[in-house]
Amino acid sequence: MPVNNYLNDSQIGPHVLQADWLNEHANQLDVLRLDALHPIVSGNKWFKLQHYLQAAKPFGKLATFGGAFSNHIVATAFAAKQAGLASKGIIRGEETSSLSPSLQAAKDFGMELQFISREAYNSIHTIKTEMEAEGFYVIDPGGYGQLGALGAAAILQAVDLQKYNHIICSVGSGTMMAGLIKAALPHQTVTGISSMKNNESLMSEVEALLTADEHKKKYQINHDFHFGGFAKINASLIQFMNDWHAAHEMPTDIVYTGKLFYAIQALTKAKFFGHGTCLLAIHSGGLQGNQSLKDGILQF
Ligand SMILES: *Cc1c(COP(=O)(O)O)cnc(C)c1O
Repeated sequence: MPVNNYLNDSQIGPHVLQADWLNEHANQLDVLRLDALHPIVSGNKWFKLQHYLQAAKPFGKLATFGGAFSNHIVATAFAAKQAGLASKGIIRGEETSSLSPSLQAAKDFGMELQFISREAYNSIHTIKTEMEAEGFYVIDPGGYGQLGALGAAAILQAVDLQKYNHIICSVGSGTMMAGLIKAALPHQTVTGISSMKNNESLMSEVEALLTADEHKKKYQINHDFHFGGFAKINASLIQFMNDWHAAHEMPTDIVYTGKLFYAIQALTKAKFFGHGTCLLAIHSGGLQGNQSLKDGILQF
């Protein structure tokens, strides 16, 4: 079934979260459950890919980049297949004897995988030029770029936007956040929670996708909830994710959304949002990434 048939699904919400820590500060938290969009192309990736898929059609084949646990790779493999496009994934690191669950899924969707050394991966520009010479439409790592941000801007069409003061999301490449800023209304602030440690260039990467007028909007990136770095976890994050699921029947992922909701709870308790704020959080999906954990660590 085409993914967009899932878009009207009531599971996506937004859902109003009930919690004492919200009531104490008269904060309302609505969660847009993009994780419920589709079992594979879940979350923001589907939105980010829409314009790239259109642009790739005349080429008949597309290529993109990612690591062994990349949600972007899996989503691109599936979406390309559905759009009738051949796909190639340039994967950072040496090929291992058994593929990660993400890469296995990508391969099952027909993506050709090519492993390259970390050094070679660092000169992505060269590889990109080679792939283009071979006739591929190339999507940058993580779906970063203008077309990705335009696609992500459509996320907010799924909600009654006017009522929110604050929109909050996880940040990887910054593409989704740029899209949300584009779609945000003048009275709204967009806050991104970085999934990486000390990524100083993140703000300039977000801003590179914005117009001069959009630079005047209200937005900020918080760097305090990386839990040691990208895809790093610890016992308190896992405990939080299990408690969050028990309290709200909402699964989260270890790379992005677990840290996002942890941050939302901590910031609310620290009165960061101000009395009476109506918040919209984007649950950007990514649950397939949890397959890299051993069984039993997560209780969902
Ligand atoms: C990719 C991803 C993000 C980050 O999106 P960017 O547009 O790269 O910033 C956030 N959450 C999830 C679940 C993702 O898979």
